Amino acid sequence: MTDIRVFQRNQIGGCVTVISTEYKGDIHRIMIDYGSFLPGSGKEKDFQYPWDEEPVDAVFFTHYHGDHVGRLMEIPENVPLYMGVTARQVMINIQDALGKSEHVQDAALHRAEAALLKDDSRVHVFRWGERTYEHITLPGFTIEPYSVDHSAYDAYMFLIEAEDADSPDGRYRILHTGDFRGHGRRGKVMLRVIYKYVRDYGKRRVDALVIEGTMMSRPGEKVLTEPQMQREASKFLKEHKWAFLVCSSTNLDSLASFYQAAQSTNLRYGRYMYVYNDYFREQLKLFTETAGDWAEVYRFDKVALLPAFDFVPPGQRLDSPLSQGEMMEQFGFLAVIKPEDYQEAYIDRFVEAYREDRIKKMPVLIWSMWDGYLQEEYTGKDGKKYPNRAKNDKWISFIKRQEAKGIHVEHLHTSGHATPEMIAAVINAVDPQDRIYPMHTECAEAFRELPIREELKERIV
Ligand SMILES: [Zn+2]
Repeated sequence: MTDIRVFQRNQIGGCVTVISTEYKGDIHRIMIDYGSFLPGSGKEKDFQYPWDEEPVDAVFFTHYHGDHVGRLMEIPENVPLYMGVTARQVMINIQDALGKSEHVQDAALHRAEAALLKDDSRVHVFRWGERTYEHITLPGFTIEPYSVDHSAYDAYMFLIEAEDADSPDGRYRILHTGDFRGHGRRGKVMLRVIYKYVRDYGKRRVDALVIEGTMMSRPGEKVLTEPQMQREASKFLKEHKWAFLVCSSTNLDSLASFYQAAQSTNLRYGRYMYVYNDYFREQLKLFTETAGDWAEVYRFDKVALLPAFDFVPPGQRLDSPLSQGEMMEQFGFLAVIKPEDYQEAYIDRFVEAYREDRIKKMPVLIWSMWDGYLQEEYTGKDGKKYPNRAKNDKWISFIKRQEAKGIHVEHLHTSGHATPEMIAAVINAVDPQDRIYPMHTECAEAFRELPIREELKERIV
């Protein structure tokens, strides 16, 4: 008898799923994700998993976002951890940087997490290729990770086969999607992967589907595909030679959209992407070496560090060498910054350059994060306004201050999560014969309104 428990499923964040089965007389369990609740979700404390009473054999991580991996350090030491090979390195880069940062309070904790992530006796990795997918076998389970498109790179869904005497062929199969979307560069492939690999061209039965529903509570949200956003960015950057960008350091697809857009603007030497620290440059280097190895669009070749305005790059003419700041004025730039007070000086340097007539236009700022962080209130399904718990006051005031200086703020972002149409397409493709578990959603009831077959609606639990 296979048992599936999805904890904290009616919130966006704090993801934890535990699957158990009986194998050779013993109960075996695997866990998928052990994440923290998202700030602003209204939850103050995560639940405690009973590690001693209900031990798990392994924890599998779908991707590196905090609401899926955030509680890694709380997992007992004897439990092996499984994750994507590149996802692991992205996380190591993050923890190494936090461990060294002066802006961070508990740096020692981050150093300990980095050490754990580097420990090969504890962390097991899987990878994917064009035609090869690895299978992991544990007592009572076979786990097949399949790559999915999400705003985190190297994200996975898992097909889990549990030994189950009650099942017609002795196996109970669960597809756990994790976070995914259909509108990224690799998004469309998901339905094909489901048909070809998960369903083995319709020959393999899936019993249960555990599926994310982040966007079910935002039905009106306009969603651009990544290539569409890249085209929008390209048009915008043609008009604006001096541009700042706010975008997550781990959102490979959107960073690629903006980087490529910056290269398409006919500036004489192309356009450099400046980043605010070494950590950010490390992540771009990692993405170039991994994703960039199979698709040109993911290569970041023109990258430089932002703070070195007075630095004179080598290879300059000796009679009139230009500092980096002067080069940025002359050749334009796309500079990634954080919406934090201490980074405002970067913008101000170019506002001053404009006032002193050294550049022809005011710099601009592209905001490529979820707009929900900037809204004081939101409109509920009843049409009424409610205070927005997810808002970030520091970011709101940062944006307001830039606008007050006369800086145009362009909102260009696309969601990392599946639209209701994509969710419906996945449910129909998987065709789960027993149960459907919505998770990572504040609006599970809306799953019944999806364009899926009637008998599938009845399987939603
Ligand atoms: Zn995520």
